[in-house]
Amino acid sequence: MSSGAVKPLNNSQAPDTVEKILRVAVQLNASDIHLGSNNLHNNSPYLLRLRINGKLQEIESSFLNSNYNEIIARIKVLSKMDITAHSIPQDGKFFYNISNEDINFRVNIVPGINNIEEVCIRLVRNKGKEFTLDDMLMTENMRKQVDLLIHQKSGIFILNGPAGQGKTTTIYSILKELSGPDTKIITAEDPVEKEMPYVTHNQVSNKVSFADLGRGFMRQDADIIFIGEIRDEDSAQSAQQLAQTGHLVLTTLHTRDSIGVIDRLQALDIDTNSIASTLIGSLAQRLVPALCQECKVPHEYDQELLSHINKILNIPNEVTLYKKGPGCNKCTQHLNQQVVSKGTKGVVPIFELFVVDNEMSELINLRKTKSELYQIAKTKGMLTLSQEALLRFYHGFIEFDAIKSYIYTPTFNN
Ligand SMILES: [Zn+2]
Repeated sequence: MSSGAVKPLNNSQAPDTVEKILRVAVQLNASDIHLGSNNLHNNSPYLLRLRINGKLQEIESSFLNSNYNEIIARIKVLSKMDITAHSIPQDGKFFYNISNEDINFRVNIVPGINNIEEVCIRLVRNKGKEFTLDDMLMTENMRKQVDLLIHQKSGIFILNGPAGQGKTTTIYSILKELSGPDTKIITAEDPVEKEMPYVTHNQVSNKVSFADLGRGFMRQDADIIFIGEIRDEDSAQSAQQLAQTGHLVLTTLHTRDSIGVIDRLQALDIDTNSIASTLIGSLAQRLVPALCQECKVPHEYDQELLSHINKILNIPNEVTLYKKGPGCNKCTQHLNQQVVSKGTKGVVPIFELFVVDNEMSELINLRKTKSELYQIAKTKGMLTLSQEALLRFYHGFIEFDAIKSYIYTPTFNN
């Protein structure tokens, strides 16, 4: 069923085992597969985990014991990696057809220790639900502000957050909203995850970088340009130039929070004056497991905690709050006899939106620090990631404990 002409390794069971792992990951709607050493914890040398609904779940893995190295070799063959190299990091990808869906598996292998290489496989699926911005559960106010920002004629709007936090889904929902016969949209992506009508997609490769493509877009008479990622000085420079020459540039950056993009752009040699004049906003994003709405249960939370929350969010007290339920037939997922997930279903995106209005632009130009900018943004109504997460908890979408697990926050004051 493999899409490439890949020969099985000897007579080993490895191809079947790899296929089994891939199938299970797809069935359980996992976003990533992690294979590696368990450092002989519980006498088991290997560890198999799947990220399901944003949370890593350990999977019973004794079936790996007899042929782990062959499994790794099989994954390397599929990903067109060097199967003889064991002490260097390698990247690759392959397509595999499971239940009539061609799924892109993006693979990274690092050496690990004790001759147990560590594998991370990310699943990129095209046939999933197409999200719109209205599916993102933004507050009405944030939704309006995002709408204003993405309809600007020029400037840079940055999505940020660690990998695997749904930035691409959000970008695609924005592109979907903006695309149409009267708008030219051109992209530089790695990889192109979804092809959309009225969008000219371009694939970054070993020979053509984000910066190369960005420079090439100058003469494309485009209205909106999506640069998949600012990852170095070159791509930062090219995004900056595009924004200065009358394009709306959408892009992503790896930073912890929304205002952190300013420090990051400065570190990439973009001068503060240019940042102040082109940055129109940034949106930080995290994914938190969503409570299963079918089996969540009302819960009495500590009164002191509640008044703290009410004060921060300025919202009324009399509302039913929930915690995770016992699991039901809508949310409980099994693998063989093992329950691997219950009480949560899917993920909820949590956002922090930083809007650069004229006043903010001047303050950036005056080189105000990140914490000074946060203070001022908050007086303008900005909620931080943890405060937005509290709001989702308050509205019954996520569990309280999930906030602390997924978004570091000692006090919720910041
Ligand atoms: Zn349930």
